[in-house]
Amino acid sequence: MTRELTDIAVLAPLLERRPLGLISDIDGTLAPIVPDPEDARVAESTLVLLRQLTEKGVRLAFITGRTLEKARSMAGVEGAAFAANHGLNIWVDGALETPDGLGEYVPRAQDVLREIGTLDVAGVSVEDKGPVLAFHYRKALSEAAARQAILAAIQASQTARAFRLQEGRKVIEVRPPLLIDKGTALAYLARRLGLAAVICMGDDATDIDMFRGVRELRAAGLAGVSIAVASAEASPGVLAGADYWLPGVAGVEWLLGGLLKALPG
Ligand SMILES: [Mg+2]
Repeated sequence: MTRELTDIAVLAPLLERRPLGLISDIDGTLAPIVPDPEDARVAESTLVLLRQLTEKGVRLAFITGRTLEKARSMAGVEGAAFAANHGLNIWVDGALETPDGLGEYVPRAQDVLREIGTLDVAGVSVEDKGPVLAFHYRKALSEAAARQAILAAIQASQTARAFRLQEGRKVIEVRPPLLIDKGTALAYLARRLGLAAVICMGDDATDIDMFRGVRELRAAGLAGVSIAVASAEASPGVLAGADYWLPGVAGVEWLLGGLLKALPG
């Protein structure tokens, strides 16, 4: 049973281990959910706490579905690492990194784009995410016709056969046939940053993958705790998948302040 986190003292065994990493989702965890996602912001008070934690030696990493550019603008804390686009785009120490096995798909995705050429369908846009291409058709007049045109164009590309297709909400993605999710991103960042302990926070269905990642780190001998941020919208699996839960973004700010007090120095 997932317990509410009400006492920082339960995290004491983690705080003794260094380097300690705080790995967090952004939207709904650090930034309150607002009607237009473009308006979402991490409060200045939260950013101040994150900066102070960094000054105490905590390594920060943000794992998000946002693009790298947007994530860095929302949570631009000096020295923080990022895994954007659910782990496709990694940013560590001021440089882009590509997780193992993924790099070869970046030039291949460019080949797919070349083979497809101009997709002359009104309302269709292509988002280049490096190893992944996303074809959006939400703005098309006929969504069904646009979807068919996109699928036909992808099927005509020889190089696209090395990828797999994944359909989402008004989007068709051409993805490498590899497992990449927030959990694999967490594992990559924990290894890359040489972390001995991880505190992980998230609020949404894709964050369940991060919580799985924390269990895998524990199995590998690291110290780790996963914390779900509760909200009225959260699917029940989110809370069930974590070790602890906190009441909303306000609960997260309480935790950050508590960590700051509990850490030496
Ligand atoms: Mg979220």
